[in-house]
Amino acid sequence: MAELPSDEELEQLLSDPEHQHNPLLPLVAALAERNREQRSRLERLLRISDSSYGVAVSRTQDLLQQYDRQLKRLDKITRISDRYQRNLIELNEQLRHAALRDPLTGLANRRQLTERLQEEVARCSRGQPAFALAMLDVDHFKRINDTHGHDTGDTVLCRLAETISAPLRSQDLCARWGGEEFMLLLPHTGLEQAGALLRRVITAVRGLRLETIPDLRLTVSAGLTVYRSQESLEDTIRRADSELMTAKQGGRDRLNMAELPE
Ligand code: GH3
Ligand code: MG
Ligand code: MG
Repeated sequence: MAELPSDEELEQLLSDPEHQHNPLLPLVAALAERNREQRSRLERLLRISDSSYGVAVSRTQDLLQQYDRQLKRLDKITRISDRYQRNLIELNEQLRHAALRDPLTGLANRRQLTERLQEEVARCSRGQPAFALAMLDVDHFKRINDTHGHDTGDTVLCRLAETISAPLRSQDLCARWGGEEFMLLLPHTGLEQAGALLRRVITAVRGLRLETIPDLRLTVSAGLTVYRSQESLEDTIRRADSELMTAKQGGRDRLNMAELPE
């Protein structure tokens, strides 16, 4: 294709006296004029398109920045919510722990013991060996309160809790049953083995000394029994309690065990 003349060259050609009588001159002049108009229209369109492109780009950047800010906000909210959730789980765990503990001695409370006992009964009903249950009661505890005050009584209970728990195995559970009564759950344990453990506990209590009142002598009485297949938990507890009563009546500071059925 032939190379088109520039505007200046075309202007020169049109004004050249040599072509003044060329009949195509008006047509070429009109075409040149049309060309100029079209070009300036095109340039205007290009400028408009450039500016709308610029607007679109800056709008997109704005949106991206907004999106980025929202993402950061969301991330922060997620982290806060995660932290709350972790705190809630921790709090729940602490509440559950508190609900199962005796606040004075830190031992398991009656509720936790009952849960564990029910688990043990379920285990026995699946053919697992029986558990032993012992009830312990501090001897003449009222005198300690009366003589040395309630606070000393509380201290004694805490020291007793430590002393009674010390010889236990990891699977055993020592609970505060109430007042100055403790309960020992000894899973998978026969009467003889449990009896030996209880005697060690009673001996340890006998040897316990309080630094503040060195003359104070402490003793406990205990009733021991082994769970019997098919019986209710209440029956087992009642039997341990009845053995404890017998130990008290027999002079305290001793262990009484329920005979195994024939
Ligand atoms: P026994 O040898 O027959 O068991 O006599 P005891 O004095 O130990 O029994 P009793 O049931 O007469 O008295 C128990 C006392 O334990 C009465 C009660 O005020 C006291 N007690 C119960 N719970 C607490 C406690 O949490 N702290 C203190 N300091 N005393 C308690
Ligand atoms: Mg009592
Ligand atoms: Mg008592």
